[in-house]
Amino acid sequence: MNPNEAAEQVDVLIAGAGPTGLSTALALAPLGLRVVLADPQDAARLADPPPDGRELALTHRTEALLRQWRLWDRLPAQARAPLQAASVSTGGAQAALRLDASHARVGLPPLPALPRPGWLPQALPWLPDLAVRALGRAGQAPIDADTHLGTLVSQNALRRVLWEGCAALPGIQVLAGHRLESMQRDDDGVTVRLVGPQGQALVLRASLLVAADGRLSAVRRMAGLVAELHDFGRSAIVCRMRHEQPHRQVAHEAFHHGHTLAVLPLADAPDLGGGGQAGALPPHCSSFVVTAPSELAQRWMALPAADYAATIEPWLDGQLGRIQPGPGEESRRHLYPLVATWAPRLVSQRVVLVGDAAVGMHPVTAHGFNLGLYSAETLARQIARRARGGQVDPADARALEAYDREHRHTARWIFRGTNAIVRLFTDDRPAARLARQATLHLAERLPPVKALVVRQLVDA
Ligand SMILES: Cc1cc2nc3c(=O)[nH]c(=O)nc-3n(C[C@H](O)[C@H](O)[C@H](O)COP(=O)(O)OP(=O)(O)OC[C@H]3O[C@@H](n4cnc5c(N)ncnc54)[C@H](O)[C@@H]3O)c2cc1C
Repeated sequence: MNPNEAAEQVDVLIAGAGPTGLSTALALAPLGLRVVLADPQDAARLADPPPDGRELALTHRTEALLRQWRLWDRLPAQARAPLQAASVSTGGAQAALRLDASHARVGLPPLPALPRPGWLPQALPWLPDLAVRALGRAGQAPIDADTHLGTLVSQNALRRVLWEGCAALPGIQVLAGHRLESMQRDDDGVTVRLVGPQGQALVLRASLLVAADGRLSAVRRMAGLVAELHDFGRSAIVCRMRHEQPHRQVAHEAFHHGHTLAVLPLADAPDLGGGGQAGALPPHCSSFVVTAPSELAQRWMALPAADYAATIEPWLDGQLGRIQPGPGEESRRHLYPLVATWAPRLVSQRVVLVGDAAVGMHPVTAHGFNLGLYSAETLARQIARRARGGQVDPADARALEAYDREHRHTARWIFRGTNAIVRLFTDDRPAARLARQATLHLAERLPPVKALVVRQLVDA
């Protein structure tokens, strides 16, 4: 690739039109920048993605951003469900933590910023940040007690509205069916080589290249940015299931021995008839997320749908009554191997990482896309701050450094804290079982701790 050959010039090239790539385009285009998104998936699939089983718990901050872009109300009612409360239990519900938005009412007096003690062991560099941030959050003014914890939104519906948002903005162009194959940088820009659906090459020149190509990002590698990889050796099976009893908008997370089950309340399924006769499908609907060692998860994936439902039903102690797979696609199971990634640097000469390419989260704390959206918003805000006399330079080095600092600060303790939770709650040795029962027991009885957890979930 010759960087000097005549290539079309754009301001920002985003590799990846997943939810974060689309969000980044929506955040940057209003700055007057010409943004091109490239993704190997074809246009029909990008515009109308099929269900992938993922129901994302979105925070209030995410909702506010999507409202600002006038996209929130475009999400169909069937694809979003408010989350009023959550319960967390371990090994048969002896110890349960119950959370709802009213728990965020508890406030502590604001605390001064804590010093960062030099003597703290190198192995725990994130601990002071965690303490400062956690105490700071507890001291914030109480949030609206009547509010909900968050909203569950189907990932494919979210992608559809983000796509529609991008299609409506003239500054955004999408190159569907195009994969970024290589890139070359110099002081003035990045020359990018894309390969199209028929194998044809397309060369573009951009001021800034944004890597939004997911947790195993090829662009990150091309830019020489390293990433830590945490393979949990486990996989998540996600699917929808019908049940007899209403869920009352409460989510349940149960850590059993060897596997975990999360039940996320969704909108009632469309009535397929049956008139209440025996054999009719129950109307209530939830997303069931089962996490287990990968080999066991593969075996459960191979079970017929009815046998899989029969495997899960006893774990619920009858809380939702009979559970049953819905018809056809509705109950299709999707398997996700659980690998978390963390890039210690998010920026390298004219290349920046966003979304899962920057921080790939374990889904247990439901932060992945929320953090991806925050990365898009932070990047755009830092670039806008450095604009001078109406001139916006998307590759301004100080803006990119500020983005790197702010987003790593936002994500660091959520990432480390989530991994610590995963380690504690999936360790089946007797001491770890006792420790997690004690943790839940204590948290249930300490209102300030509950306030902290709820504030983190809500992220208002
Ligand atoms: C089971 C499960 C549950 C989850 N629950 C939640 C939740 O409750 N809340 C939450 O906030 N998050 C949740 N997440 C996380 C969320 O799904 C991800 O954070 C989100 O999908 C990441 O979006 P992304 O756009 O960064 O990456 P991706 O969705 O991985 O998109 C990457 C895009 O890049 C494209 N691409 C790849 N290579 C190239 C290339 N060379 N050139 C150009 N394009 C390329 C791909 O085609 C793809 O479209 C969950 C995840 C899982 C697995």
